[in-house]
Amino acid sequence: MDKGHSESSRRDPAQLETLFQQGGQVLLASMCESFLERSGQRLAALSASTDPAAMARICHDLKTSCRIVGARHLAQLCETLEYATENGSPPPAGAVQELNEEYLQVRDWLEERLQSPAATAPEEDASDRPEDTNKQPVIALVEDNPDNRLLMSVILGQTYGITEYTSGEKALQGISNSLPDLVLLDVSLPGMDGLDVLKALREDEALVKLPVVALTAHAMHGDRERFLEAGFDEYISKPIVDEQLIFDIIDGLLGRSEQ
Ligand code: MN
Repeated sequence: MDKGHSESSRRDPAQLETLFQQGGQVLLASMCESFLERSGQRLAALSASTDPAAMARICHDLKTSCRIVGARHLAQLCETLEYATENGSPPPAGAVQELNEEYLQVRDWLEERLQSPAATAPEEDASDRPEDTNKQPVIALVEDNPDNRLLMSVILGQTYGITEYTSGEKALQGISNSLPDLVLLDVSLPGMDGLDVLKALREDEALVKLPVVALTAHAMHGDRERFLEAGFDEYISKPIVDEQLIFDIIDGLLGRSEQ
């Protein structure tokens, strides 16, 4: 085991503090609990799986959740295993084991944070975004990762109406029945991926001008250009750390930026 890594390079307490600032102890606790519960299930499924494609999906999903809680090293291990298996190759020897071991350390770390009393009170955040219940714009959130859906609905739910979809197929059906003002579309979805969903949306004449923002866990150089070229209106990388950025993007696209 590479004990040479400092604690801070493996896990990022600042990300937990971001969650705390975003939604107080309630959000922090529910994110951590949801992460631990689901990750335990994902790891059991990963350990039992012999199908590389299924393993790659589990790793992708787990990676996204790891980034939300600041489990940096575990996210890295997931990404390495995701890339190793996504083309159908079997996992490298010991990779699943290493992931399980790091998970146990992450679990201890999160449980410790949950037991420690809140260090600082969260800023009064809702106050600077007055709740405008008369006519809230509706955002369709298409995201298969439950942790990310929870986080996004806490961040956005006071300002916008949120309709959640867990797959591209469900989103296409729902969106054509009830038109939202904007779509936040995860690029990596099981089955139909975000690019397929975007293409299908744009084929519908009524939806040609619907603003669609790509959400992605792959923050890579040149991504923004690539997604804009594909027809997305904007691009946001996950997890959301800078709340103001996402509000600015959404309000800009809704044509209601007033500052
Ligand atoms: Mn996804």
